[in-house]
Amino acid sequence: MLKKELNIFTFSDLLLHFPNRHIDKTKVSAIAEISPATEYIQVAGKLLQMTISGEKRSRRLTAILKDNTGILELTWFQGISWVQKSLTEGMQYLVFGRTGFFNGKPQIVHPEIEPYVPAKADGKQFLEPVYPTTEKLKVKSLNGRQIGKLTYTLLAQLKAEDIPENLPQYLVEKLRLMGRYEAYRNIHFPASPVLYERALQRLKFEELFIAQVRLNLVRLQRHNSSRGVVFEKVGDYFNTFYSKYLPFQLTGAQKRVLKEIRTDTGRGRQMNRLLQGDVGSGKTIVALLSMLLAADNGYQSCLMAPTEILAQQHYNGLSELLKEMPVEIALLTGSTKAAQRKKILKGLQEDTIHFVVGTHAVIEDTVQFKNLGLVIVDEQHRFGVAQRARLWEKAVIPPHVLVMTATPIPRTLAMTAYGDLDYSIMDELPPGRQPVTTVHRYETARANVMDFVKTEITKGRQAYFIYPLIEESEKLSYEDLMQGYEQVKSFFPDPPYRISMVHGRQPAEQKETNMQRFVTGDTQLMVSTTVIEVGVNVPNASVMVIESAEKFGLSQLHQLRGRVGRGSEKSFCILLTSVKASKDARERIKIMCATNDGFKIAEKDLELRGPGDIEGTRQSGALNFRIASIVNDKELLEKAKTEAEQLCSEDPELDMAKNLQLKIHLQSQGRKNAWSKIS
Ligand code: ADP
Ligand code: MG
Repeated sequence: MLKKELNIFTFSDLLLHFPNRHIDKTKVSAIAEISPATEYIQVAGKLLQMTISGEKRSRRLTAILKDNTGILELTWFQGISWVQKSLTEGMQYLVFGRTGFFNGKPQIVHPEIEPYVPAKADGKQFLEPVYPTTEKLKVKSLNGRQIGKLTYTLLAQLKAEDIPENLPQYLVEKLRLMGRYEAYRNIHFPASPVLYERALQRLKFEELFIAQVRLNLVRLQRHNSSRGVVFEKVGDYFNTFYSKYLPFQLTGAQKRVLKEIRTDTGRGRQMNRLLQGDVGSGKTIVALLSMLLAADNGYQSCLMAPTEILAQQHYNGLSELLKEMPVEIALLTGSTKAAQRKKILKGLQEDTIHFVVGTHAVIEDTVQFKNLGLVIVDEQHRFGVAQRARLWEKAVIPPHVLVMTATPIPRTLAMTAYGDLDYSIMDELPPGRQPVTTVHRYETARANVMDFVKTEITKGRQAYFIYPLIEESEKLSYEDLMQGYEQVKSFFPDPPYRISMVHGRQPAEQKETNMQRFVTGDTQLMVSTTVIEVGVNVPNASVMVIESAEKFGLSQLHQLRGRVGRGSEKSFCILLTSVKASKDARERIKIMCATNDGFKIAEKDLELRGPGDIEGTRQSGALNFRIASIVNDKELLEKAKTEAEQLCSEDPELDMAKNLQLKIHLQSQGRKNAWSKIS
């Protein structure tokens, strides 16, 4: 039963089944104290009037608990005959549970109940653990208290050497941590609230620290075992471009990241770097300069984008920047014509093409490189691990990999989910950007919104209208979009206004044409679903209207908003919602209106949704900490990370005597968590 319901298989599982909280057994409340605001309560009294009523499904057992101040109704819907047999009318019982009100009277459904023995008046607190349990177990009387009894019996038999210290002694002393044995005793049966708190801190630290040590060891191992091509020099390609064709000064962040990439690629092992830069921080130019560095060292590069639109746009942008340079660049996507494709494949094999930009078409088996040295993946969240791994087969020595993402990952999450990778952050926008002004409007104010958009267009600007993808139905999304298109058209008739529409159902060519018309300014309005979400760059667009904004997640809204505010004009983002938006949705909208900072938004997202839900990390078991939380225990996580890094760099094989008990512990736990490798 324990196995099936709570995944408890062994004694150690039982010890690791930590209580949610403790109740002070000496504290018995009066029934009259129960109010609608009460959550949990413990009361004691005489059990009266046990009755069974109802038929089949609605069959239930009720009883009354009476103390000197009032009466409380107790109800059971399950295990009725068993409960009835185990209780006796007229006896005193101690009852604990979540209170509710039914017909104006207080009640507890499925309470924890046991014969009441008044606590001895010795002044000692007794903090009794309350364990998470399930309704099924409660019915079988394996409620929280029963689990507590099992744990108590187990702990009474265990000696200190049965729960040996697993952290290095010097760390325990330095951080004044409670010992492991003591911590296990106190997390279950604390002698005082202070000791409970210390036990909790100790076990949280242990959990975070051990996870960090593992990640560090994996990273060090990758560093030491991987081979990589060497980009040893900066040559003519890079230097000529840098001095003659770079259209702007690099930001400090761009320079720093380039330096990191240069160091990474120069030391003879494979680079595996995640580059996070908020939307508009200028990742593309970093990609281009890295590709030029590869070319200087005789290597080909490949830039992969998640969609054809993006690949096409990267190709156009890079071709423009490189038009005076002796660099061959090709575009390879699913819709590249057969003859052209053949030519490109030949060029890649013979090394006459330096750079190839493309979609996943690039990783098809037929694509062979003479000398692939660098792979850049733009917007990694859309790229599967398996897809990336296929690239390795395209070169004898694995190429360097730079994964770029505009989805900011909160630091704590990056530390845990990507802790075994190298990562760079571009936290600086190019100069002259004005923050986007974001406002919330109800759909009822649409006419005003349209008027506003019209004034912007009259000034020569362009505007986006974004419609949600309705997850359950492509058809519904499509109808929604069409309806929206008609609506926009009625406000902006052609002539003089021209509208591009882009959605997932269009053939690639049509999508491309519509996109290009907007990019060149031929159309002033773009009506689209979220297909334009990533990467699209139209600096003249200064307004974005997001329809049904309540249907979008925070990071998606932030991504979308990143399409405006890319030029020197003041830009606006208008979030339209129905008046019925949920509380969570209103919270998201509020955050969007309050800040433009992607990292802050990501932090909030993490708080609102919890780590399990953050895109790209769902599978990673390592975020399921038992008691630590990357949302609530940030400080402890920082501490664990610092200590783990120091330990691993000093003793990467854990050979030192002082780290022996840690090594033994890690070995006994086996090697888990090989999950988050990007390659
Ligand atoms: P993202 O990081 O979102 O991919 P892009 O690389 O598309 O951003 O850059 C956004 C815009 O900023 C582009 O128009 C680009 O030319 C411009 N840009 C990039 N770096 C700089 C810079 N250092 N100074 C001025 N403009 C820049
Ligand atoms: Mg980009």
